[in-house]
Amino acid sequence: MIITDTHTHLYSEEFSEDRNEMIQRAIDAGVSRFFIPAIDSTYTQAMYDLEKSHPENVFLMMGLHPTHVKDNYLEELERVEVELSKRKFYAIGEIGIDLYWDKAHLQEQQIAFRKQIQLAKQCKLPIVIHCREAFDAVFEILEEEKSDDLFGIFHCFSGTYEQAIQAISYNMKLGIGGVVTFKNGKIDQFLSQIDLKHIVLETDSPYLAPTPFRGKRNESSYLVHVVSKLAAIYNLPQEEIARITTKNSETIFGI
Ligand SMILES: [Zn+2]
Repeated sequence: MIITDTHTHLYSEEFSEDRNEMIQRAIDAGVSRFFIPAIDSTYTQAMYDLEKSHPENVFLMMGLHPTHVKDNYLEELERVEVELSKRKFYAIGEIGIDLYWDKAHLQEQQIAFRKQIQLAKQCKLPIVIHCREAFDAVFEILEEEKSDDLFGIFHCFSGTYEQAIQAISYNMKLGIGGVVTFKNGKIDQFLSQIDLKHIVLETDSPYLAPTPFRGKRNESSYLVHVVSKLAAIYNLPQEEIARITTKNSETIFGI
């Protein structure tokens, strides 16, 4: 069984004590493909180090995270472009709009999101969207930018059925993680109506640990709890959930 974690911050300081053991636990549990979203330039070296230590398992993205769109964001966007011109990345991410942590930089977040979508089209890469309390703002830009060459993942999807259908209409797959195991997570109520071909798995670790680890540090090995929840929702064997969602991740990332 090959399970793909399409969104994990393996380079996070939260793992500095036991990173290699944690990665080995995941691989032993069947979670052997890790897609690593960028945040800003202060993490770039840590991402490269991680790739160097696990070249078979780690696949990097490049981008500027919306909560890190600050006064120097144009400089940061330039760094993103420079890195993209130097080497292979598998997606532009994570990018988007976050009005939970920061409403003051909405305009800059919108500019950065649009600019990075255009970069993704140029580079023929998928985008990985971060959207928190910002569905209207994110959909507004996707509506303007939608095209056959725009595609990707709506990371940590936590919206309604209608919002899921709208995200899918923009060629986005839904990134499903720990939230689907929460009692009040809501998405488990309608997920069975969404074809599995639109779903990819993710932890967003170290955040959003699934039940029974809710509130604790999350890690990629815990993705098996999301697989088992989806197996129950779709009434399919866990192997089938792993196979289809890994295939979907290959379609998006090209690997
Ligand atoms: Zn993330």
